[in-house]
Amino acid sequence: MSTIDKFNKNIMHTYGRYPLVMESGKDRRCKDENGKSYIDFGSGIGTNSLGYCNDKWVDAVCNQAKQLQHSSNYYYTRVQADFADLLCNTTGYSKVFFGNSGAEANECAIKIARKYSFDKYGKNRHNIITLVNSFHGRTICTLSATGQDVFHNYFFPFVDGFINVEANNIDDLKDKLDGSVCAVMIEYIQGEGGVNALNQDFVDAIFSLCQQKDVLVIADEVQTGVGRTGKFLAGEHFGKKANIVTLAKGLAGGVPIGACLADEKCADVLCAGTHGSTFGGNPLACAGGTAVLETVTADGFLQNVTEKSEFIRSELLKIDEVQSLSGIGLMIGISLKTKKAADVVKAALDEGLLLLTAKEKIRLLPPLTIDKQEIQEGVAILRKLLEV
Ligand SMILES: *Cc1c(COP(=O)(O)O)cnc(C)c1O
Repeated sequence: MSTIDKFNKNIMHTYGRYPLVMESGKDRRCKDENGKSYIDFGSGIGTNSLGYCNDKWVDAVCNQAKQLQHSSNYYYTRVQADFADLLCNTTGYSKVFFGNSGAEANECAIKIARKYSFDKYGKNRHNIITLVNSFHGRTICTLSATGQDVFHNYFFPFVDGFINVEANNIDDLKDKLDGSVCAVMIEYIQGEGGVNALNQDFVDAIFSLCQQKDVLVIADEVQTGVGRTGKFLAGEHFGKKANIVTLAKGLAGGVPIGACLADEKCADVLCAGTHGSTFGGNPLACAGGTAVLETVTADGFLQNVTEKSEFIRSELLKIDEVQSLSGIGLMIGISLKTKKAADVVKAALDEGLLLLTAKEKIRLLPPLTIDKQEIQEGVAILRKLLEV
């Protein structure tokens, strides 16, 4: 039986998959089971931040696997201690909780926000403002937080206590940020929602209103974090430090991880018995994450991400069919004049290029380690597809 037949027989049909069986990869290229090679402009979904099987990352994960693959959180491990130390030092946050995915990181953030408020103000100050068109995950609670009606089907009842505000609408924010609210949760650049960055005035309004009212700001940086935008956190582009930041996707270079970082105001809200995760802080994930952090924070790396992003953006804008570009750094949305993004992404597979979509746009999340030559090769394929 073929791989695809086995999937169809045994795996729930929750994804619309492309007919490609991935077999191996090295750096920015991967191969399917027929030996066909692809340039990767998607990195999984921004997860393979150092590309496929990066040497330093492979050594870190393999050496850890040979030494200790898991320990319950009843004990301490040095690799989790060192990774947390590096992550807190890099980001300036006080403490971290480790889970295994973006949704879990956001669940933790939501729990911290509600308990922070409960501890200080008691009941009935539990609402969390999220933005229209946001995406925060697939668990029932993070789906409830997600501000897109298409996700609010079938699974009723959803979790109460989420209020949606229109992105970049300060009046709507002011109207809804009342005494029932304990947190505002944002993506600085909405990823799944179509690679749309918030504007500075709106971000300024969120932070100043929240500060006045002792409402926490949660930044969901699951997609934008860990160097994706040319800064370690996308919040730096806006000059802002949220009370809570969530990370996942690219954080451990392709092993499952989620991290919820909290500042001094709310770092000690969760105490023994209030939260946990069997796999959270897993040694393999922490070893992979350490390799990613050491690479991304090395001298000049993020500057290089910015330069590459300027290069790929200028190349893309030379294509006549490209209407406009969105996003920051190597998180890029491409609006097309006449063609459908989904059709282009499908056609690109035949030409050996992996792309993503986000709503009606083509979305690029190339490995942060991509080089100029590979950018040129990938863009040439895209140009060929867009100019026919
Ligand atoms: C992908 C994503 C999530 C969910 O992450 P999972 O690891 O799939 O649970 C949450 N928030 C944002 C902004 C994301 O891009």
